[in-house]
Amino acid sequence: MNIKKVQLYHVRMPLKHSVETSFSTIGDKDSIIVEVQDDDGITGWGEAPAFAVPWYTEETIGTVWHMLEDFLIPLCFRRNWAHPKIAATAFSAIQRNNMAKSGLESALWDLYAKREEKSLAAVLGGCNKMIEVGVVIGLQAKVKDVLDLLEQYLTQGYKRIKLKIKPGHDVEPISAMRRQFPEVSLSVDANGAYTLNEKDMFQKMDWFGLSMIEQPLAAGDLLEHAKLQENLRTPLCLDESIAVAQDVQHALELKSCRIINIKMSRVGGLTSALALHDYCQERRIPVWCGGMFETGIGRAHNIALSSLANFSLPGDISASSRYWETDIIEPEVTVQKGEIQVPEGWGIGYAVNRRHLEKVVVAKKTFYKQG
Ligand code: MG
Repeated sequence: MNIKKVQLYHVRMPLKHSVETSFSTIGDKDSIIVEVQDDDGITGWGEAPAFAVPWYTEETIGTVWHMLEDFLIPLCFRRNWAHPKIAATAFSAIQRNNMAKSGLESALWDLYAKREEKSLAAVLGGCNKMIEVGVVIGLQAKVKDVLDLLEQYLTQGYKRIKLKIKPGHDVEPISAMRRQFPEVSLSVDANGAYTLNEKDMFQKMDWFGLSMIEQPLAAGDLLEHAKLQENLRTPLCLDESIAVAQDVQHALELKSCRIINIKMSRVGGLTSALALHDYCQERRIPVWCGGMFETGIGRAHNIALSSLANFSLPGDISASSRYWETDIIEPEVTVQKGEIQVPEGWGIGYAVNRRHLEKVVVAKKTFYKQG
C-alpha cells in the first residue's frame, strides 16, 4: 500500500439523547475520521473517536489531530506498507497516543481488505456471521427513567443492558431493574468512579446477579481491583486499565479481573486488539468489544473485530439509530433480535455517505505524499 493522500475530518454529530457518565454529560459527539488513498485510487476509512475533554483517557480531539498531522501521517508517507501490521509496528515508535494511531491504522486495514477483495472481518480472521450486542443506559436523574429505557431497549431486542453508575447512583436503580426484570442480563460500568473505601456498595451489588462490574476503580488500580475481585462473586471487567498487552498480563497475574473489554481505539488499533484477543483466548478469558459513541465508520470496524471467536460476550455496538438521526455510512447499522449481521462486502462493508459527512464536518485538511 503506497499511501499518496490522507484526509482528516473533524466531525461533530448531535447525539439523539445525551449520555451522562460518571464524569460528564455528552451531548454532541466529536470524532476524527481518517481517509487514506493509495496510488491506485483505493480508499480506506478509519476513526479516532476521542472525546472533546480527556475524561476517558488522556487523549482529546486536539491531541489526536496534532499526533496525526505532525507525526503519524508523515510516518505513513515514508514507506510502502505490505500489511497494516507492519505499519502498526512502525507507529509503535511513538509513545501511547493510541486513539490517534488507531484512527490511521484502522484506515489502512480497511484499504488492505479492499485491495485483497475481502471483508475486514475475513482479513482479521473473524468467524462469526452474526454478533450479539448490548446497549448502554447513561446515568438518569430518576429510577423510573432507567426502567422506561430498559423496557424500550428490551423491546428492541438488545441482549445485554449496561447501566452507567457513580457514587449515589448505583444500588437503587440496579435493585429496581432487578426487581422488575429478574432474568435480564445486566451489568454496570463505573468508569473508575469508586475507591476501595466503597467496598460495601460492591458487596451489595454482588447480590444482583450482574454479568460483570466494569472498571469500578481507577485505571491504574490493578492491585486494588485484585483486592476487590477477591471478595466478589461477580466478575470484574477492565476497560480503562487496559492499553497494551502487558496490562492484560499484569491484570490476569494479579487476578484483578475475569473479563476484558477490548476497544481498538483505546489499545492503538486493530493489530493490538487482535494480539489482546489471542492472548485472552489462550488463557480462556472472555472478551467483548466496547463502544465510544463511534460514527458508523468506527462502528463498522467494531463489528468486524467482534466477529473473532473469543468475542464471546455481547459488545456495546448498538444500531446507528440508537445514537444518530443520520449516520455517515450506508446502509446504517441495524440490530435485529439483539444481533448485527457481519457485512461480507469488501473492507468495512459499508459505504461512506459523503454528503452527510460534509454536513457534520467542523474542520478538514488534506495531506499529500511529497515526491
Ligand atoms: Mg467502560
